[in-house]
Amino acid sequence: LYVEHPLGDGQTVPLDRGQAHYLFGVMRQTTGAQILLFNGQDGEWRAEVTEAGKRGGALTCLGQARPLQMPPDLWLCFAPIKKARTDFIVEKAAEMGAARIVPVQTEFTNSGRIQRDRLQAHAVEAAEQCGGTFVPEVAEMVRFDKLLGAWNKKRHIMFCDEALSSSVHAPLAAAHAGPWAIFIGPEGGFSERERARLQTLGCATSVSLGPRILRADTAAVAALTIWQQALGD
Ligand code: SAM
Repeated sequence: LYVEHPLGDGQTVPLDRGQAHYLFGVMRQTTGAQILLFNGQDGEWRAEVTEAGKRGGALTCLGQARPLQMPPDLWLCFAPIKKARTDFIVEKAAEMGAARIVPVQTEFTNSGRIQRDRLQAHAVEAAEQCGGTFVPEVAEMVRFDKLLGAWNKKRHIMFCDEALSSSVHAPLAAAHAGPWAIFIGPEGGFSERERARLQTLGCATSVSLGPRILRADTAAVAALTIWQQALGD
């Protein structure tokens, strides 16, 4: 169970109404039950239910089950698309071990706003479902030019470019160990100016994901897979 509360030896962790409903109503747990908790920072903790009510409850931490396992330093920078597909991208990025998820407003991005809290909740659920101890942060939406204007060039970019030659092309294996960011464009792709900006930045590798033009959500999963295979752990 994910909680937004520090975890440590003997620490009491309060539960809000939603968490109490889930744990005691849906999962049928009661006082004395042992539950695994994580908060994205302190690893995974065994905890005992010490109070179980309809409107709330409390647990007491007994001991650490697993230390925090940080994923590789990989960001997924993508242009948000339709709501359900954006949810999918965030969920899959969290499952596949992205450390940070960055919605980017590009020239052809249709969706001018995102519901960051909703997307963050999807990242939490995905981390819960895959037994992770870390939850990637979903950043505020940022304009493409602002993001690249402040880019630390030590972070290498995997620029997913559908205009490259037709075969899957993953020149990542020999490349650069260190922080990375995958860039995926919107349904209309990156504009010519944005493509040129990425290509001349000096720290981007253009990568083809194959001969077919993939929808942005499919492209995100394919890119994460290729990156994980070449450079993940
Ligand atoms: N510009 C395109 C068009 O309108 O024909 C489509 C863009 S595609 C739907 C969305 C994004 O997914 C692209 O900007 C790119 O980052 C990524 N993408 C899709 N297919 C790809 C491929 N075969 N190779 C590399 N990237 C791909």
